[in-house]
Amino acid sequence: MRHPVGVGRAAGRTAWGARVVAMALLAAVTLGAWTPPGDVARGQPATHPLQIVLFIGDGMGHQHLELLRAYRHSKPFVDELEPAASLATRSLSGVTDSAAAATALSTGHPTANGMVAMGPHGERWPTLLERAKQAGMRVGLVSTTTVTDATPAAFAAHVERRQEHQSVARQYLDLGVDVILGGGRYQWAHRTPDGGGQALLERARSLGYLVVQASSELRTVAQKAAERSQAAGEQAKLLGLFADGPMAYEAERPPHQPSLAEMTETALRWLDGGSGQPFVLVVEAGRIDHLGHEGRVDILPQEMQALDEAVGVALRFAAKRPGTLVVLTADHETGGLERSAARIWYFRWPGGHTSREVPLRVKGAGAERFQGLRHLTDVGGVLSRLVEERTALTVHQSTGGCGVWSGLS
Ligand SMILES: [Zn+2]
Repeated sequence: MRHPVGVGRAAGRTAWGARVVAMALLAAVTLGAWTPPGDVARGQPATHPLQIVLFIGDGMGHQHLELLRAYRHSKPFVDELEPAASLATRSLSGVTDSAAAATALSTGHPTANGMVAMGPHGERWPTLLERAKQAGMRVGLVSTTTVTDATPAAFAAHVERRQEHQSVARQYLDLGVDVILGGGRYQWAHRTPDGGGQALLERARSLGYLVVQASSELRTVAQKAAERSQAAGEQAKLLGLFADGPMAYEAERPPHQPSLAEMTETALRWLDGGSGQPFVLVVEAGRIDHLGHEGRVDILPQEMQALDEAVGVALRFAAKRPGTLVVLTADHETGGLERSAARIWYFRWPGGHTSREVPLRVKGAGAERFQGLRHLTDVGGVLSRLVEERTALTVHQSTGGCGVWSGLS
């Protein structure tokens, strides 16, 4: 019965946190004496992240990390993150699906399965990327599955049915998600009945997105464009779609599809802009879940390794940008992965999600805020508050005459 407690605490704390920020904003505007949160007030280095990278292993439980460790034979990158908590994942429907779980991670609210950043009664809760945009941060989504699938969708779009991929894609463009990389080209490339005859891919181009469709383009065209826009001080947008549906499993990945690590590296470079611009990037290893559904352990190590290498990319980035927070968690466990006494890995319940807890590991600015959390909604609550506080900091800078007023509108 841990779940209702965790949910209740998270919802309460989210509302309380919002009131605190609102009161602090009022004080800043009226008194001009806003003190930034964290250790800055005590004259120590800030522990508030400027750049947030959230990794989600879709379907990844604690045993998946054990399998990675066994496969690597050396310390994996995920173990450079500190263990912060073991999280319950239940949704209002019971055992969660990815839509409700990602909604919890993005908004801090529990919901019913199938709902994407919406409540069971049609409530539209602000997503993490919407909050980040409001705080003047750049935002990105990377996934090895269809990039409009439920997990990434819940961070930037609202739909009542997770199958509404084209509505999700349209909402990504409306929000102005700065970097979108993954699979699911079909959803963008065929014309929609309500799209005014214009495919979403064309719409993205007309909005100024650079569109790439192969790993070679990601390395050459996107690299050059990033350098050009950095030199010009522009904030260019990138849409990379590398498969009609989900991208291939890592063990079967053709050369024209980039790895999760390559996509993560490109996204970090674009969002950072070479000058340490604030951003929130969500990276989903989306196909760990699919292997659990299919009961395939044989190529699971490679899929976990691909996630680990992407985490390694983020850690190298964080080493250069000390204000970076790296978070690794999952939305739920899939398949009931276990190891027998004979050290054989197998799925106990292949085909479905389980109610097992999932790992939460963190490193960097603000990492202490995640210690001891209990449910996915708690993570959503902390991430939302970190971004809200960023809004407050932006207002502080603007009242001091050295920033951009983007926090209040
Ligand atoms: Zn699943």
